Amino acid sequence: MDRTRRWTPFAGLAYLTLLGGAALLPPGQRRLASDAVVVVAAVVTAVVVARAGRRTCARARGWHLVSLSLVAGVVLASSAELLSAVHGPVDPPRTAASVLPHLLGAVAVLTLLGRSRLRAGGARLLVESALFCTAAFVLAQLLVVGPLVRDLVLSGPARAALEASCLAATLLLGSGLTFVTAAGPARRTTGGVTLAGLAAVAVADCLSVLGSAGPFGLLGTGSRALYLVGLVLLCLAAQQDPGDGPAERAPGRRLTHGITLAGQLLPHGVMVLAAVLLLGSALFMATPTAAALVAVALGLLLTGVHRVVVVGDEMRYAGGLARSEAWFRRVVRASSDAVLVLDDDRAVTWAASVLADPAEAAGRPLLGVPLVDRVHPQDVETVRAWLGDADGPEVALDGLCSFRLPAEDGSWRVWEAGVTDLRADAAVGALVLHCRDVTVRLHAEDELRSLAFTDPATGLPNRAAHVIALAEELAAADDAPQVALLLFEVEGLDEARENVGRDVVELSVVEIGRRLRATVRGDDLVARVGPEVFAVLAHGEGDEPDRVAARCLSVVEQPVVTPLGLVDLSAAVGLVPLVGGLGPETVLDRAELAVREARRSGTGSVRRYDPALGAVRDRRERLRADLVGARARGELGLVWQPIVSLAEQRVTGVEALVRWNHPVFGELEPEEFIPVAERAGLVGDVQRWVLHEALLAAAALPEHGAPLRLGINVSAVHLASGTVVGDVSSALRAAGFPAQRLVVEVAGSTTLLEDPSVASDFAALRLMGVHLALDDFGAPSSTLDHLTRLPVDVVKLDRTFLARVDKEKQTRALCASVIGIGGDLGIDVVAEGVETPSQLTVLRTLGCGFAQGFLLSRPLTLPALVACLDAGGGHLWPGQVGRVDVARADAG
Ligand code: C2E
Ligand code: CA
Ligand code: CA
Repeated sequence: MDRTRRWTPFAGLAYLTLLGGAALLPPGQRRLASDAVVVVAAVVTAVVVARAGRRTCARARGWHLVSLSLVAGVVLASSAELLSAVHGPVDPPRTAASVLPHLLGAVAVLTLLGRSRLRAGGARLLVESALFCTAAFVLAQLLVVGPLVRDLVLSGPARAALEASCLAATLLLGSGLTFVTAAGPARRTTGGVTLAGLAAVAVADCLSVLGSAGPFGLLGTGSRALYLVGLVLLCLAAQQDPGDGPAERAPGRRLTHGITLAGQLLPHGVMVLAAVLLLGSALFMATPTAAALVAVALGLLLTGVHRVVVVGDEMRYAGGLARSEAWFRRVVRASSDAVLVLDDDRAVTWAASVLADPAEAAGRPLLGVPLVDRVHPQDVETVRAWLGDADGPEVALDGLCSFRLPAEDGSWRVWEAGVTDLRADAAVGALVLHCRDVTVRLHAEDELRSLAFTDPATGLPNRAAHVIALAEELAAADDAPQVALLLFEVEGLDEARENVGRDVVELSVVEIGRRLRATVRGDDLVARVGPEVFAVLAHGEGDEPDRVAARCLSVVEQPVVTPLGLVDLSAAVGLVPLVGGLGPETVLDRAELAVREARRSGTGSVRRYDPALGAVRDRRERLRADLVGARARGELGLVWQPIVSLAEQRVTGVEALVRWNHPVFGELEPEEFIPVAERAGLVGDVQRWVLHEALLAAAALPEHGAPLRLGINVSAVHLASGTVVGDVSSALRAAGFPAQRLVVEVAGSTTLLEDPSVASDFAALRLMGVHLALDDFGAPSSTLDHLTRLPVDVVKLDRTFLARVDKEKQTRALCASVIGIGGDLGIDVVAEGVETPSQLTVLRTLGCGFAQGFLLSRPLTLPALVACLDAGGGHLWPGQVGRVDVARADAG
């Protein structure tokens, strides 16, 4: 088909050449030859149009009708030519022959558009088409009918045929204009070419009427040429018609916006031209025809009607636009995602009310001002870096940015914004910022963050916050410490808990926190880093932190008044100066070492960290590791210390004391490794070995007079494990040792003794016949209470107590009363750590039953003990027979 289209202009040229050739023929043949060219061209065009239409349109009826009208035109014209006898001017049959084809053509063109599109054009399309038709009719009246009427006296039928022919031609033109106006944008060129083609055909027809009227003889050939041009244009229009696709057929809404400029201007232009020509003809030539005058009047009327229709359309259109703009404005204003529009200089040209109103109320309106002049001063650089400057280098406008804008009450709200660059968009030409109020979210995040770093009970910073602050101080620290970490481990809470209960103790701890906060200086940070531990970052050089520690300790030791009575607390304090290069973990570790040392030094002590503390800890850890296989490797041993009856001056018992012969550190005292074993959970193992070995050995000891009692120490941790009864009975069985000769020694300082399960273990041991001794009685932490409440058989007076017995009256009185109570309750009293004869004398005077100490005998190896017993026949007294040289006995 494309090929046909390319050939169409050439075919047109060929027709015109043939027509030119025909014009050169003698007058007799000229008319016939040129008519033949026209007929052939018309038929060819009809065929081409019909075929093209079938290809382009879903319903090709329109183009088929066009093709039919062309064929009808030539057939009717030829028939009229043949039928009409007279070849006079304005022959009625020949003039009338064009009426039917033109009407058919008009219907054909309207069919091309389709009914739905015509309906969518509405009143406006109708008025415009009518106006165009009227104007064209006036022109036809002026150019064709008027002159003919004036120059020729026309018969009635001839006049009627002429008027009808003019009317049909104007209707054809009107249909062409309707096509141009109402067709969719894709079909506008087709419409234009069709209108031009139809205009050429219609004008050619009118000219041919004039030409046939004699005086205008030359016009005959010209009108045929114009007709041929019209045919070619119609051919082209049909070939390039994109068709009436679904969108074409159903435009969906009124065509108001789609109506073209041509549709608006052409009818008026033609009408003005017609009116001017009418006026001119009235002045210079002759009176216009009545039909022309009526048509002009109608045209004027239609112009008015057109104006009314257009105004209505415009009002509707403007109303719709205003409504939709208002709708969009309201949507944008109502949206919580506030919008800011900035011009090229980053000045605000529009702001949603959520942003604009508060700023306005705060006296800092946004409109017309660069955004950076209104954001929080601290955010200026951030915003500038994000949006760039009008004069500065281009920045990639993307990502989110947070900045603060004024709120009504003078505070700031935080907005998070994204930017869309619409500067290249001609309709907007601006930067559009979509903002979101994140104030509440940020506030909530801050709150969460502060919760995560706050101790809920005291409101003080917690451990996490303390570690951060410590890290910051360490980062700023150098070799000369300006800040020290003080770690306070509150003491006395266990007792307080027993006296006043957990809740009151918690209140007391809160009070301690408050006192510490009130005691330190403003820049010193107090934190609660554990349930019973506070930390202070104390500023100051030299011994200033020690003074802060002492002040803090004194406020901790002031009794806390509670509804349930006074709570007395104290603290063990570790002090570590912050030196550059240390990590927070190291510092906290050192502080804990110092606290442990302070605890060991007694209640209410402050200890500075010393590298030796680290060495102590390392040794302890080494012991802990080595203790695991010590028993299996045979590194454990026993020594024995005799207990002497002061009345009989003879050995009545021995205490078995454990030793660890460490491969590196040599012989270790139980006071060093038993606590390690307790913490490592190994004390039970050690204890079972001691029981087993001691009972076996004691069973084989020589008897001089009375059988010896054997004292064995049992640690509080082992007691708490609940296996003591089983361990003791199995050891007794294995050794065949009589239970009545065994004394289990338990330190009197432990609060564990009041535990009901421990009490029932004591009862079970006593049922077995085992005796119970309250060890270390009179040591600072032991209580007189146990003496009366526990089923003890022996009390061992602590050696710290004994040390002053010969020097202090009170101690002596206390000792006398213990001995007295013991006597009353039938409890044996053993004085431990007797080192001097004067102590021994005092004890004898006071009536103490038994003594144990270096004065009588140091702890001995088993052979030395046997030698000691055998040498004195069981007698042992300082300066008397039986005083054994231990070294000699061991060698022996
Ligand atoms: P303890 O039960 O009070 O034992 C007496 C301690 O006092 C022994 O120290 C002994 O050597 C020492 N001592 C005796 N007379 C004197 C003296 O005149 N002056 C001085 N300064 N000290 C004297 P040791 O053997 O170092 O035992 C220390 C503690 O270790 C014992 O105190 C006991 O509580 C514990 N212990 C010893 N053996 C065992 C054991 O097998 N199991 C458990 N759980 N603890 C044990
Ligand atoms: Ca003991
Ligand atoms: Ca003791």
